[in-house]
Amino acid sequence: MNESLIKSIAACPACKGSLEVGPQLTCAACGLEFPVVDGIPILINEANSIFSIEDFKQGRPTTYGSPLKGWKRLVSKFIPSINLNLGSDQNYKDFFERLRAKRSRPRVLILGGAIEGQGLDLEPIADQFEFVETDVSFGPRTGIICDAHDLPFNSESFDGVIAQAVLEHVLDPFRCVEEMERVLVSNGLVYAETPFMQQVHMGRFDFLRFSHLGHRRLFRRFTEVSSGAIGGPAMTLAWTYSYFLRGLFVNKTLQKAAFAFGNLTSFYLKYLDPLLKERPGTYDSASAYYFMGTKDGKTLDDRELIMNYKGTF
Ligand SMILES: [Zn+2]
Repeated sequence: MNESLIKSIAACPACKGSLEVGPQLTCAACGLEFPVVDGIPILINEANSIFSIEDFKQGRPTTYGSPLKGWKRLVSKFIPSINLNLGSDQNYKDFFERLRAKRSRPRVLILGGAIEGQGLDLEPIADQFEFVETDVSFGPRTGIICDAHDLPFNSESFDGVIAQAVLEHVLDPFRCVEEMERVLVSNGLVYAETPFMQQVHMGRFDFLRFSHLGHRRLFRRFTEVSSGAIGGPAMTLAWTYSYFLRGLFVNKTLQKAAFAFGNLTSFYLKYLDPLLKERPGTYDSASAYYFMGTKDGKTLDDRELIMNYKGTF
């Protein structure tokens, strides 16, 4: 546990009171107690979360299923992916450059940061930034367990916040973005990637999708730096086809075999996506969208929002 970080920016997830550091963390204001498991603070407001502190204490699996083992893992290596990322690496480069231009050693909160997201390569820039990686599961990079609905940090603690493939997995994304905005400094930068045309993944922990404008509305209290497709319409087609085949079967093994067959016979579609990235149709049918924006005190008017439609209708 990074004690100086906890003392400087961490707060009670329930009442935002300050935390007293001991064998566990105790809220000085409301008295709630939060355990520290293997050096990782579990800062969950149980009154407003689908996760329970006890599960983390007992090491029960929360969001992740168990990784594939044995021959299943071997087979999965030979099945080409139907996903093609359209430029998270470039977006992150831009994001980090903008933060570096604002101040030295910016502090960045990474939600869903148990593992490094697509296009993120943190090691080479680890000395230039202070990364705080949170998640609702233990992973190689999890620093703090917390739920994005109740971020356990003081207001204006971060220069940047990243939420890559997170907001589809929360029950109240508007609340989560409000929290992201709260913990950002004025002129802080947000970056999010969220699916639009995708079937359910991560099983029971998958709730919502956003169109390009719906995603923009979610971040209406930010001024846009950039936005667009991060997974294209050909990826949408491959997912739909593979999930259709999977859904024809009741037997779990047949479901997996049908899905693998789907991937094997549609993976090549994704190579169309770079050509389609900027097309109007992509604003109606992309697999996922990204948004980068600045917290500058301005709110996008809803009438102005709908003027930003770029699709085919
Ligand atoms: Zn409290």
